[in-house]
Amino acid sequence: MLATSNHQGTRAHNKPLVATENLKKHFTIEESLLTKYLAGAKNRVVRAVDGVSIEILSGETLGLVGESGCGKSTLGRAIVGLYEPTEGNVHFQGKPLWGQGSIPKTALRRQAQIIFQNPYSSLNPRHTVRQIIGVALAARGVGPQDREAETIGLLRRVGLGEDHIDRYPHQFSGGQRQRIGVARALATNPKFIVADEPLSSLDVSVQAQIINLLQELQEEYGLTYLFITHDLRVAYHMSHRVAVMYLGQVVESADTDMLYENPLHPYTQALLSAIPSVDASHRANRILLEGTVPTPIDPPKGCRFHPRCRHRMPICEQEEPNLVPVQTPARTGVAKKHLVRCHLHIG
Ligand code: SF4
Repeated sequence: MLATSNHQGTRAHNKPLVATENLKKHFTIEESLLTKYLAGAKNRVVRAVDGVSIEILSGETLGLVGESGCGKSTLGRAIVGLYEPTEGNVHFQGKPLWGQGSIPKTALRRQAQIIFQNPYSSLNPRHTVRQIIGVALAARGVGPQDREAETIGLLRRVGLGEDHIDRYPHQFSGGQRQRIGVARALATNPKFIVADEPLSSLDVSVQAQIINLLQELQEEYGLTYLFITHDLRVAYHMSHRVAVMYLGQVVESADTDMLYENPLHPYTQALLSAIPSVDASHRANRILLEGTVPTPIDPPKGCRFHPRCRHRMPICEQEEPNLVPVQTPARTGVAKKHLVRCHLHIG
């Protein structure tokens, strides 16, 4: 059973803990010398993240959704400093991660943690739980004499027991391994956690337990999450706000209720219509996307979504729309911020 949905609370008055400013992360694919010589080919560039400006407010969960390959995980890793940006910057508590006046990386590692998709490959198979969590505790400055008690406390908090401390990752189920990943993330006493598809390798019943655990920990420790998922039902339960990514860019973001009740971007509308439902009328209204996802090596000109969009207009193939605010009345009667990147909504 899922805990109360996170989107019902509001964090509108909280300050941003994390912000990205026109963040770009491109990867260069080196062509072989032979291909360059014979075909005159140049190195190709994958535009994994291509100009993302978002804010994550203190104490909130921002859900980041989109199809596989849209750049969600690259954005998450760049936000915690695992990738140096090609352009733009990330700010954590107002300080840049890169360049002049940047936050020291050791301080960032303590305050910003990541929970990975595959709990098995993210845990060292040759280390016991004591060693895995001990490394994170040492990074926080916890002395060797105090680490056992701290580790046991963390294991209990994530639903494991004292007797698990000297076991190896292969001796746990997938759900238990993800709990170890959560305990390791908590060990540095972070303010911010990127959860990168933390449920996708787990059974549905275990997914619900991990969602509940993450929500409880958020309340208890005042954590801020960037929750990356391709599952819009999970994003709905976890998130105060949701941002939708397509080909390296955010195409829409809003408070969760607002986005799910009134999606404005045709891509968001298609994603939401594809949520499995027992309701026959919902299934009949499913929007089928045309074509396949274009490559981020050579994204379409104009609006990147235009080859698959059933509303495309001549301008869509020529001009790239900006992400602009659209004022939408929320249920409370207060106008709230809803951002969308689509010519249909640019006045
Ligand atoms: Fe569709 Fe045009 Fe909007 Fe792009 S800008 S989503 S092609 S209507």
